[in-house]
Amino acid sequence: MNAPDTPFALDSAVAQAADKVEPRVVAWRRDIHQNPELGNREVRTAKLVADHLRALGFDSVQEKVAHTGVVGVLKGGLPGPVVALRADMDALPVAEEVDVPFKSTARAKWNGMDCGVMHACGHDAHTAILMGVAEVLAGMRARIPGTVKFLFQPAEETPPVGEEGGAKMMIAEGCLKSPDVAAVFGLHISSIYPTGMIGYRSGPLLASADRFRVFLRGVQTHGAMPWRGIDPIVIGSQVVLGLQTIVSRRMDITKEPSIVTVGVFQGGVRQNIIPDEVKLEGTMRAFDEGQRGEIQEHVKRIVEMIAAAGGAKAQVFIDRGYDITVNHPQLTEWSVPVLQRIAGEGNVAVVDKICGSEDFSCFQQQVPGFFYFLGCTARDKDAATAAPNHSPRFYVDEECLKVGVMTMAGLALDWLDANKG
Ligand SMILES: [Zn+2]
Ligand SMILES: [Zn+2]
Repeated sequence: MNAPDTPFALDSAVAQAADKVEPRVVAWRRDIHQNPELGNREVRTAKLVADHLRALGFDSVQEKVAHTGVVGVLKGGLPGPVVALRADMDALPVAEEVDVPFKSTARAKWNGMDCGVMHACGHDAHTAILMGVAEVLAGMRARIPGTVKFLFQPAEETPPVGEEGGAKMMIAEGCLKSPDVAAVFGLHISSIYPTGMIGYRSGPLLASADRFRVFLRGVQTHGAMPWRGIDPIVIGSQVVLGLQTIVSRRMDITKEPSIVTVGVFQGGVRQNIIPDEVKLEGTMRAFDEGQRGEIQEHVKRIVEMIAAAGGAKAQVFIDRGYDITVNHPQLTEWSVPVLQRIAGEGNVAVVDKICGSEDFSCFQQQVPGFFYFLGCTARDKDAATAAPNHSPRFYVDEECLKVGVMTMAGLALDWLDANKG
């Protein structure tokens, strides 16, 4: 009988398999890039994924999870626990400006508007990487102590208005159950780091993202007779400034950073009419659940009090968005040496928090989860000035894909080995 595999023995097997699958990972990524699909519409992408998993002999391949998601189960040849790996599949309503042979010219309706569609957040890379991991692990399944669950998730960038979707819906449909998942890993490529660099952080990594909508109702009047009405534009302007005192005056900024941004200020149709109503919309970001709640309270109070002071009526709606992405401290501590071994110690670093948000946070609320960044800006370019994720000029150096395959496969194998009991 052979001696049991050590993580190091498996490393070389993973590296060899990753080398072999790399050209196909690149090809999948380009194919998905050229055929991007918006949230809850990832029909073609999901079929590509499901066909691939079936061809690899997966034990089960479940389609149409949370509309267009795919959940694949790969049972290893040895007894052990269940670990999950997650990739998101959706693109964004962005018209691509990068001149590559596989440039996207796709168009689609997004919330009723006709728009270009682009994988401007790199989810094409995430999907291709996880397809590569599936192939690598399927090729060594006899040596795997436990089960790997592959979560191909739709609509991470939020579903269209009026639809459910994403991680929350996949969980509600049981993607973490039978077999029950004990830990989950995910990655996100990012142009703010050089290719192959792994960025991680224990505890809060990405922010919560909640929306507020404010309606201020005044009394319409002639622009030349403001005393005959109540001007919601002036009151709205005071509200904008008032909201800026929440972070600067009310939050303990030594604890965690936070953000309140007004992104919509709509009102009026003509220069000489003071309108009845204005609408404000904005986003609130926090890295601490307590502060998140406080910010919401402050927004409500400031809007209501300023409106009352000016004689206007206020309505405030708070729409809770994604929760804070919190990396499980012990799982993070455990993951770092694995990443260093696979990607090279010099390529793994603690990074700053990011004020974006992720619904990977939903999985982390159910089971310990670790989410990390993978740099995708070529080493001869300046990552500090590279077009960011969501830009029409977002560019992925495909050299990063193999690092993604090796680290995800390595984390899954090592975790199963360390927890096989
Ligand atoms: Zn994004
Ligand atoms: Zn993303």
